[in-house]
Amino acid sequence: MKILCIGRNYVEHAEELNNEVPKEPIIFMKPSTAILEGAQLSIPAFTTDLHYELELVLKISKTGSRIPLEEASDYFSEIGLGIDFTARDIQSRCKEKGLPWEKAKAFDGSATLSGFKPIRNYDKESIPFSLKKNGATVQDSHSGLMIFKFDYLVHYCSQYFKLEAGDLLFTGTPKGVGRVQSGDLLEAYLGEELLDKVHIN
Ligand code: MG
Repeated sequence: MKILCIGRNYVEHAEELNNEVPKEPIIFMKPSTAILEGAQLSIPAFTTDLHYELELVLKISKTGSRIPLEEASDYFSEIGLGIDFTARDIQSRCKEKGLPWEKAKAFDGSATLSGFKPIRNYDKESIPFSLKKNGATVQDSHSGLMIFKFDYLVHYCSQYFKLEAGDLLFTGTPKGVGRVQSGDLLEAYLGEELLDKVHIN
């Protein structure tokens, strides 16, 4: 099982980090060991600037390579939420040097996962989701603001990587990313439904 992640897929998030808005999807990966077990994340000792990034996550439902765009929707049937935890200080240093981001993005516990829901229950063009930190809403967006939409992301990723049933696709974070500190509580909502809670230690 692999976790594919999309970077800078919302215009206002690209801008808040002073990044260019991409002309094609930016892909990186996390290993399966990045998935947080349980609901407690301890801030790793190697970072002083750990950020949350709430994202809609697709679960791939069948194997495929070089999937045509018009068939892409056949390859996912469930959606959930994930937090792409990012050591922003390390990522910034990697970016300055043109180095890969894995140390900042793929460490143990850097991916949270909620339960998954049938995507047919939602209007794919406008799936609302939001994140509360200590009870205050810090991210609030919907899938209609994604630069590259679900079908295109599945099509695009599969040009490079064979997708397998159970693979996960983090589809990028909207604006509002920020730092967490010990004692914080993060609550992730799909629409009005609370799907996941993470405590920061
Ligand atoms: Mg992200």
